[in-house]
Amino acid sequence: ADHILEVRNLKKYFNVGHGNVLKAVDNVSFSIKRGETFGLVGESGCGKSTTGRTIIRLYEATDGQVLFNGEDVHALRGSKLRDFNRNMQMVFQDPYASLNPRMTVGDIIAEGIDIHGLFTGRKRRERVVELLRTVGLNEEHASRFPHEFSGGQRQRIGIARALAIEPQFIIADEPISALDVSIQAQVVNLFKRLQKERGLTYLFIAHDLAMVKHISDRIGVMYLGALVETAEANELYRKPLHPYTQALLSAIPIPDPEVERKRERIILQGDVPSPINPPSGCRFRTRCPKAMPECATHVPEWKEVENDHFVACHLYS
Ligand code: SF4
Ligand code: MG
Repeated sequence: ADHILEVRNLKKYFNVGHGNVLKAVDNVSFSIKRGETFGLVGESGCGKSTTGRTIIRLYEATDGQVLFNGEDVHALRGSKLRDFNRNMQMVFQDPYASLNPRMTVGDIIAEGIDIHGLFTGRKRRERVVELLRTVGLNEEHASRFPHEFSGGQRQRIGIARALAIEPQFIIADEPISALDVSIQAQVVNLFKRLQKERGLTYLFIAHDLAMVKHISDRIGVMYLGALVETAEANELYRKPLHPYTQALLSAIPIPDPEVERKRERIILQGDVPSPINPPSGCRFRTRCPKAMPECATHVPEWKEVENDHFVACHLYS
């Protein structure tokens, strides 16, 4: 398959003092096909944002590889690095914090155009207006400031900024989590339309499976710095294999009250342990309803149990 991105055994550790190491991302592997959306899901603190930030080189990797169009991104220098910086863009979670309050919306959107020296003068203005229209805003908005806009509009500005230099790949880090539920679907639909029009590939990060359902072609579930399962989206919703995925799915309400009433809800006990000293063996074992003795002594291997359906759990080995 034509993979635009391959993440291989990626690790990102942080020294947090007193000899402690926070293993924020620990041996994560997955790949994304050109033109698809890969939804990366997990509770806050599970390492999904750090994974995104390490892929785009906001962080250097501790170990492992990120291949973009077949090239190791952490080894890129010079013009290849500049190409990479153009081709991969990020949309951030908080549309209030990620836009400079002292810059006009037009200048915010044109930031990448200016950095890469693509257009100036009238051409630059035309490009900004075109981008505003693309995301559902208009020409007058260019001279205004971020505080004059709602959360949903600000996220549209963030998306226009990411699109300005025509990237191939966008990492969207919880782009709808901070928005009102009524606005979330609109922004998801915008992402979908842009993908269709421009052939974009997305890594779409979210904290629950309900949020990525309508946008993802494939989904990865993270727990405590590790990937526990990846599968094609419909397959994952229909046949979740990992006990953690099963618990996350059981928490999504089903609209049909008949079905909802009969459904078994899996309530996880306890809190997510600290990633500084994660449990031995399977990291999920302290909360897993199906834990067995070997789960404490052996790390479950990452295994393809069906075509393109990977899971790390002793129930399947
Ligand atoms: Fe549960 Fe064991 Fe599977 Fe971990 S390896 S998810 S503890 S059954
Ligand atoms: Mg995050």
